[in-house]
Amino acid sequence: RSQIQPTNHLRIMSTPTARRHAHTLKDPSLFKQQCYINGAWVDAKSGKTFEVEDPATGTVIGTMPEMSKEDTQTAIDAAAAALPAFRQLPGRQRARMLHKWFQLMMENQEDLATLIMWENGKAKGDAMGEVVYAANFFEWFSEEAPRAGGDTIPASTAGNRVFTIKQPVGVCGLITPWNFPAAMITRKIGPALAAGCTVVAKSPGETPFTAAALAELAHRAGIPPGVVNIVSSLKNTAEVGSALTSSDIVKKVSFTGSTGVGKLLMKQSSDSLKKLSFELGGNAPFIVFNDADLDAAVAGAIASKFRASGQTCVCANRLYVQSGIYDDFAKAFTEKVKQFKVGPGDQEGVTHGPLIHDRAVSKVKAHVADAVKQGGKVLTGGEAMPDLGANFFQPTVIRDMKPDMQLASEETFGPVAGLFSFESEAEVVKHANNAEVGLAGYFFSKDIQRCYRVAEALEVGMVGVNTGLISDVAAPFGGVKWSGFGREGSKYGIAEYQIIKMVTLGGM
Ligand code: NAD
Repeated sequence: RSQIQPTNHLRIMSTPTARRHAHTLKDPSLFKQQCYINGAWVDAKSGKTFEVEDPATGTVIGTMPEMSKEDTQTAIDAAAAALPAFRQLPGRQRARMLHKWFQLMMENQEDLATLIMWENGKAKGDAMGEVVYAANFFEWFSEEAPRAGGDTIPASTAGNRVFTIKQPVGVCGLITPWNFPAAMITRKIGPALAAGCTVVAKSPGETPFTAAALAELAHRAGIPPGVVNIVSSLKNTAEVGSALTSSDIVKKVSFTGSTGVGKLLMKQSSDSLKKLSFELGGNAPFIVFNDADLDAAVAGAIASKFRASGQTCVCANRLYVQSGIYDDFAKAFTEKVKQFKVGPGDQEGVTHGPLIHDRAVSKVKAHVADAVKQGGKVLTGGEAMPDLGANFFQPTVIRDMKPDMQLASEETFGPVAGLFSFESEAEVVKHANNAEVGLAGYFFSKDIQRCYRVAEALEVGMVGVNTGLISDVAAPFGGVKWSGFGREGSKYGIAEYQIIKMVTLGGM
């Protein structure tokens, strides 16, 4: 561990806000403002930094290095140098490191949640929940690591013997979004390390401090230098991304983010024919049939639509409610939404925080304006909340939505629930599937035959039946259509980071 340099405390304490923030943590040394490469805390070679704002207040929390192509190459080289020794470790040894990392995350749950609240804005309950969800990926994959066995296969040729072994893909480039500053990263690093890969993760420009704190915990967990490298960037993101996608050393890129950026990264990766996993945007249909349990459907819709103020990729975006239950649902759902308390995530009693930035607020405003212009009726909300801050928007319910409104075809990624009415199962399935993307879909019904039928008919990677919450480390997460390909979590998650090598022994 001789390569470890002490954290740059001088810079951490360089602004009053940063100082105040650091001291709010139980363990202030988790507030890092540098990148972690080859087991050392480093600045950008250029010395450039970018500022990170608290979305609730607009104040600068601190700064992070603005890394370049050259810095990224240093991280890639470190990951490549660490690979031969790391991949040779027995799975159980890598498992112990991951398990230690899991324990450290749980021991530091509050501090990690505080970092998430500062930079992402989500309410404390959501932030604490995210840390557990995120840590669970390390626990889950620590259990998968020792079980990465192959098969023995009866050969077609007499005298031959065939078996397979699972080997790590190699150095992986990981790119993740701001909406789950911890979980999107651990969902990738957990299986990568379990498989024996080493990684370069580009942290989200809006939320890099949680990623840096995770690196500090990786260090404390005894993960060898070079195995986990974290680079950060805001303005140079495209440059850092292209360093990862064009590198021949990087054998795989796993990306979570928007469909547009996913398509770009796929093009960039084609010259080096990289293995890819893409978790892209969603536009989840949420269907309530006449025969649903109304209270359960309302609770499910609240959880699915408004978690993290509507900023999750599996958030319900289009709520289809059958005509016989439409008015009752609209009333009960709106009553619940009116009970939310919006404010800075770290304030007592706050259930819903701000949106991430002004661009997110603009999109939400545009979707609401478009719906209202075309006859949508606002039942609650509908306005920005400048008194709280520039990035706040009222939790909103709109009824009488029409299929050609913007919200029907685009992911809103904000706290707006649009209620569409429908008559028949065939009609609603058609509407639900009329989307370029297909990540999650939900429906509520007590009819068991319908449950099978609709679950099979929806063109999505994940279906919630009579539940609004589907994320589970034990279950495969991923989409179809323009929501991408590949699965994270579960026994399938590790396969994305493995190569199956076949060995034929002849002359037996
Ligand atoms: P985004 O695509 O703009 O950014 C995602 C990440 O990619 C960030 O780290 C960003 O810095 C980086 N990035 C942006 N341009 C890049 C480039 N040219 N090269 C390399 N990296 C680049 O998405 P966002 O707005 O930050 O996140 C919201 C989107 O992510 C939504 O569409 C949401 O549905 C999606 N998302 C999907 C999942 C999933 O599992 N399917 C999970 C969370 C979020």
